[in-house]
Amino acid sequence: MDFIKNNIDGVLNRIRIAEKQSNLEPNSVKLLAVSKTMPSEYVKTAIDCGLKEFGENYIQEGIQKAELFQDYATWHFIGHLQKNKVKLAVAHFDVIQTIDSIELAEKISRVAVELGRKLDVFIEVHFGDESTKTGFLPDEAEKNAQKIACLENINLKGLMTIPPFTDNPNDNRCHFETLRKMSERIFAGCGFKPVLSMGMTADLEVAISEGSNMVRVGTGIFGPRK
Ligand SMILES: *Cc1c(COP(=O)(O)O)cnc(C)c1O
Repeated sequence: MDFIKNNIDGVLNRIRIAEKQSNLEPNSVKLLAVSKTMPSEYVKTAIDCGLKEFGENYIQEGIQKAELFQDYATWHFIGHLQKNKVKLAVAHFDVIQTIDSIELAEKISRVAVELGRKLDVFIEVHFGDESTKTGFLPDEAEKNAQKIACLENINLKGLMTIPPFTDNPNDNRCHFETLRKMSERIFAGCGFKPVLSMGMTADLEVAISEGSNMVRVGTGIFGPRK
């Protein structure tokens, strides 16, 4: 699995260069390895290379890997979370990045209390493109953030977005900028640095230059998905 090690070196190098160009300290941007559809041996290799945070989109698949590697990595749920899967998600994941409604946040909170778990959550924001159907619209996210932040057993730690698909990463610069400004307003005075989860394999440089501090990289680490 040497290709994974080489890919990780390459991605970390891209992140370092982008950090430098934005005058950021080295390692101020976290790398979330998106392992969806990839076998658990690939995850093991990535852990052996020093990666500690993984993202999964599908509950059953994610749980299998999270159970195998729960002592070695933090598991983020980054797919669309259906209400009937909340219990499984809360029991097995450490972070849920895809809060896309108040009802979902309330349910996660309720279940977390029941199970005696505490989770970090991010609000998912989308920018009105038909193909990215899930997430709050920016206005709604800002309106509801306070309510979500007050729910028991979940800590609102940041924002995430999956921007509209495009061939030119610069097309989404404006959305990354909007998300950063929203985060500055929502988390003003909160006493910690919020996570801005934005940027993937194709556009991590643009995202970092607009303030991302967590990039979610799948293909760039594990190769193309089938
Ligand atoms: C699949 C996925 C990624 C990774 O995308 P790549 O282009 O393979 O890096 C990141 N975020 C989310 C939410 C995803 O579903």
